[in-house]
Amino acid sequence: MKVIGLPIKTSTAPSASVVLKSCFHVEVSMMPRIVIKRGNRFTKLVVIGPRGADINGKRKWRCKCDCGTYCEATSSALVLKKKKSCGCLRPESAANRQRKHGMSLTPTYITWQSMLTRCRNPKMKQYHDYGGAGVTVCTRWHQFENFFADMGLRPDKMSLDRIDPFGNYELSNCKWSTRSEQAKNTRGAAALKILSKMQKAKP
Ligand SMILES: [Zn+2]
Repeated sequence: MKVIGLPIKTSTAPSASVVLKSCFHVEVSMMPRIVIKRGNRFTKLVVIGPRGADINGKRKWRCKCDCGTYCEATSSALVLKKKKSCGCLRPESAANRQRKHGMSLTPTYITWQSMLTRCRNPKMKQYHDYGGAGVTVCTRWHQFENFFADMGLRPDKMSLDRIDPFGNYELSNCKWSTRSEQAKNTRGAAALKILSKMQKAKP
């Protein structure tokens, strides 16, 4: 007995790509209709004005990023949040990832953390000589990424040293030193400072 009915030939069957394409069109036409105006904000970008169209005829906008950089973006890139910044948002998130998964147990991170604790936490026994004595950490260094960018990796057997032991924790006043260097600097400079104060106090 013969089977009646035609086997479907894949070559003549409706191609899957047509179906997919029509789905894609439906999706695109469902993009929310938002009228973009000057001054509108899309995450870190503020629209400055129209900037013609791209090669596909999509409307483009000149935008200013919160970081101060100007850039261009199409309407759909802004509305669909495909473009949220001039590009500066990405390194920021990369730095966050690094903090969460890469650097938190490294000597450099621990050094940064103890610097903050010495200056901020009165329960720490060293607080008396740091935070309690008026030593602060510059605002830039409240973020580990900035401290790391300025000071780099902590060299082996070295520690964070303030050049002026009465000064604050900031790039202009910090270097990596060996422990003996640091002890010498701290005591020597402190003694000199006291001496000069005593001399000034003399009538
Ligand atoms: Zn930016």
